Parts: sequence; structure tokens; C-alpha cells
Amino acid sequence: MSTKRIACSLFLTATLAAGCSGGSSAGVDASPTDAPAAPDATGVDGPVADAGPADAGVDPDAGPARLPPWLSYCDTSSCATDPAVIYVCPAAAPTCTPSRHTTVIPRVDGRTISGVFFPVVAAEGLSLRVESGGAAVLAHLVTAYAPAIELHSDLDVTVSYYAVAPVWGGDTHLDFTSSSRTSATLDSVFFAHPSYDTGTAAADLHAQGQTAIADERTITGLTSEHVHGLFLPSELAGASGGEGNFSYGDGTVTTNYGNPDYIAAMGGIIPTVFPRFAHEFAHELFDELTPPFAGNPSCLNEGVADALAFVSGHLPEAEFGPIGLRGANFDDGCAALDEIHDIGNCYFWHVRNAGLLDDSFMNGVFHPQHTFTFDSCNQNALETGNSILVLFTEAASGADMMSVLDAMGIPHAASYEDAKTALGF
Ligand SMILES: [Zn+2]
Repeated sequence: MSTKRIACSLFLTATLAAGCSGGSSAGVDASPTDAPAAPDATGVDGPVADAGPADAGVDPDAGPARLPPWLSYCDTSSCATDPAVIYVCPAAAPTCTPSRHTTVIPRVDGRTISGVFFPVVAAEGLSLRVESGGAAVLAHLVTAYAPAIELHSDLDVTVSYYAVAPVWGGDTHLDFTSSSRTSATLDSVFFAHPSYDTGTAAADLHAQGQTAIADERTITGLTSEHVHGLFLPSELAGASGGEGNFSYGDGTVTTNYGNPDYIAAMGGIIPTVFPRFAHEFAHELFDELTPPFAGNPSCLNEGVADALAFVSGHLPEAEFGPIGLRGANFDDGCAALDEIHDIGNCYFWHVRNAGLLDDSFMNGVFHPQHTFTFDSCNQNALETGNSILVLFTEAASGADMMSVLDAMGIPHAASYEDAKTALGF
């Protein structure tokens, strides 16, 4: 359907990691400054096709793996022709001119791609600057929109979260491999650095992804386009210029599983990334709503995505509430919130507190009985409170929502009927 991109947008910060919608996803700085050096992973040959009973649906002959929309293969698409040139200097001498360089070449299955994100890691403090080309730096992090990154440094550094050692005076391949799987509802691609043992994550995400799609479709009574789920390490996700957790409204869902230290802190790849997938897929269903929510539904959309993923059992409660991304406690009310996920989650958190957040309620939200035009991010507007009151009352089959709206602490009419009248319904 539409090609809009629903960004689940914690800002890209020096602590870039996975996470979009949950209270616990604020990020972990996982620069592997203490990681042992890994061998440079060159010479990767083609897609991973580890066939076996657990890998039904793997198709090694399907051609190049589908990339996230912000990346392309340079042998079939045009990529930036000028390299991105980055100078790496000691923090104490930030204007240095290093005497040696390497050219970092990002590749997937041995094919050069159009961009990449990576940390530059050293034992001492670093100062990075962009000399030329399509790149941005933030602290020790490089986001490059070019298939070649000239990294100039007299310091001993490694690149990426996989401690790849530069080849000074030559090319440093930053290689990733893909593993593609197909099914009736979900085609998935899992990307990984070959030095990192991801175990059965690719197959598990493919299987659980189909379950989440089925569960969320059943609850909402809606069907979306065939889903293309892409599971990305930080290096490929961050090349989006953001977190890389996106729903495109056309079946394409991208998710960022972070990096090894972050994954270890989160307890594995599945708990790191799977709630993100369940959240992003819910956006795909929201995109199918008839009538669609007019006005500004973005905060409602974020709340719906976590609430549906939570109700369907695919997102832990702690990532739903009550502590928001900015540290606020939803139990204190919704009036003071100013982050889109927090505002949206707070509405639904109070339905949960009232014991009314269940499959039937979510089905009702996905089948609105009116064309709503409110600004869901302006929770202190009377029109918003009245709209939430009407929407939620009808989703709850007429249950009294007055105490729920009161707990939210947002303005609303004195009754459901008065709210409908005020909205012209
Ligand atoms: Zn979202």
C-alpha cells in the first residue's frame, strides 16, 4: 500500500543499539573496546544455506538477498562514486592529519553495498571528522552513505562491533552474510557477521515471525501484504541514518538486533529483536485500517503497535509499560508525556490497568466505528480525550471508560454520549 516509513525512532546516539518501543530499549553502549581481535572476515562466498530440518524454506538459489530499502548492491544499482573520507585522531589532537589509511568496503555475501554504519574502536580517546564524501560521524561512530570509506588513522583501531582489523594501505572488507527463508506469510532475511555465532536465531526468527503474524492477524481480523522481514546487525541497520526498526506499509519490516555486547546484555538475539518485529508488523496492520485514522494518528499508532504485540504475547510487559522511553511512569498519568511511543503506550497502559486490554479490545480498536480526526499526540486537547473516550468505549463493548480517562489525566467530556456529541458522531 503506501510506501511511508513508520520510524521507531529513538535518535541515533552514541549508544546505538536495537530498540524502538519499549521501556527497556534505551540502548547500551556496546563498543567492544575490550573485545579480543577477530580475524578479518574476508573471502565470504555467497548466501548462507545451512539446510536442515530446522531450516525449511531456505532457498540458496533465490539470487541476491533482499536488502533493506536504504541499501543496494553496487553491482546492480548506482552507488556513490566518491569515497567517504574519515580522519581518526587522538582526542587530544583532533586536527591531526594521519599518514596512513585503509579503505573499508562493506559487503553482503561478497557483494559491495552502498553504505554501512560502524564504530571505530581504540584503547584511547578518539576524535573523528569527515574530510569529504557522504558520511556523518558522532563520537566514535561512522555512518557512511558510500561503498568505500577511506579511514585515515595513525592510531591502532579496529572497525565494527566485530573488531575487524584494518589493512593499512589496502582494502578492509567489512563482510556480512545473509540467510534467506520463505513461507506463505513471511519471507525473512537474517544478516550476520561471519565471526559471530548466531546459533539458530535466523530459523527461530523465521518461525516465530510467522506465529506473530498469524496471532496479530487473528486478533485484529485484518490481513496485510506478504511480509518481508529483515533482521539486521547494527552495521546494516545504522546505515539507515536511524535505528533501522521500520514498517514501510507494503509488507516490508526491518529490525535491528544490535551487536554482540548488547545482545548479551539483553539475553540473546530473540529477546533483543523479536519484540521489535512484533511491534513493526503491528504497524503494517494499522496501515490496513478502514476507515483510517485521520488527523495525526502517529502516537496512537505507536501505542497500538506495542499494545497489540503485548496482547498477542510477543512483547514483554516491561517493554510496554509503565516506564516510558524517557523515564516517565505511565501510572502517574499521560498529560506530561512528550515522546510519541510514550504518549501512545500510556493510553493503552491505563486500559491494561483497568483489566480491559485483551484481544477483543484490540480488535475493536482496529475496527473504528467512526472517522476520527484527532491529533493523537496532543493528549491534552479536549478533542483528543473525547476521541480516545469514544474509541476505547466502543472497543471495550460499551464498558465505562470514565475512570480510565481520569487515570490518564487528560481532558474529556463528562460521558461517552457527551463525547460523541462533541465530536459530531
Ligand atoms: Zn513503532
